[in-house]
Amino acid sequence: MQYLCSGAARLGLQLNSRQLEQFQTYYRELIDWNSRINLTAITEPKEVQLKHFLDSLSVIPAFKQPVISENPSLIDIGSGAGFPGLPLKIALPDIKLVLLEATGKKAAFLRHLTQKLNLDDVEVLAGRAEDIAHQFQYRQRFDIVLSRAVAALPALAELTLPFCAIGGRIIIQKKGDIEGEVSQAARVIEILGGSQPEVKKVELAELADDRYLVIIDKVSPTPAKYPRRPGMPAKRPIVDKGT
Ligand code: SAH
Repeated sequence: MQYLCSGAARLGLQLNSRQLEQFQTYYRELIDWNSRINLTAITEPKEVQLKHFLDSLSVIPAFKQPVISENPSLIDIGSGAGFPGLPLKIALPDIKLVLLEATGKKAAFLRHLTQKLNLDDVEVLAGRAEDIAHQFQYRQRFDIVLSRAVAALPALAELTLPFCAIGGRIIIQKKGDIEGEVSQAARVIEILGGSQPEVKKVELAELADDRYLVIIDKVSPTPAKYPRRPGMPAKRPIVDKGT
């Protein structure tokens, strides 16, 4: 785990031997399950360390300081094989984590892995953000809402903002040219109770391929009708038509 270790050190994180073992177990289980269900195209040890594990940790500098509570609650929307939620839980064991994933098989992998890693305070939900966001115990409850590689920003705003507590923060990981997406999403974000998005480039030498964080603070409640029914946020995003 040398690449992860030195990258994490740059983020101010000294991973201890238990954490490094957990990352090793994560790697082994990922590769094992990947032979049966499609979890990732990235399988080389160095690549997994950098493009999955370290990339997940790269959101930490964007956490709001101080976070609302001592043990911040965090939800990862469309977690897939656990990114970014699970590497964050390994690195910061005090967080309370919910992993939300629509595909049952991936959710089964996440449950298996959570047990294997002996992690407390991790809940895996198999379901769609459009449904779960209307459940009382998850709506506007989280200090931090994360999502990586799930949808374009206007749709993703609708899938993430409803989960965030007022005063909390949404951090979305994006690659490549995102200016257009961000300006398209600006009005949607406002409607859903978010601040104007701030875009930060990930400044890690190990990840020098145009990775960005879109940071949104939750400033007012999300109207109860959002998110709309499953599929609608992506199919018919609430875009600003300049009206
Ligand atoms: N975040 C992971 C996975 C990205 S792939 C990573 O970066 O590696 C996108 C994942 O989001 C898929 O596993 C898909 O099943 C899930 N997903 C897509 N739309 C969703 C929704 N509306 N609710 C919950 N999960 C969703």
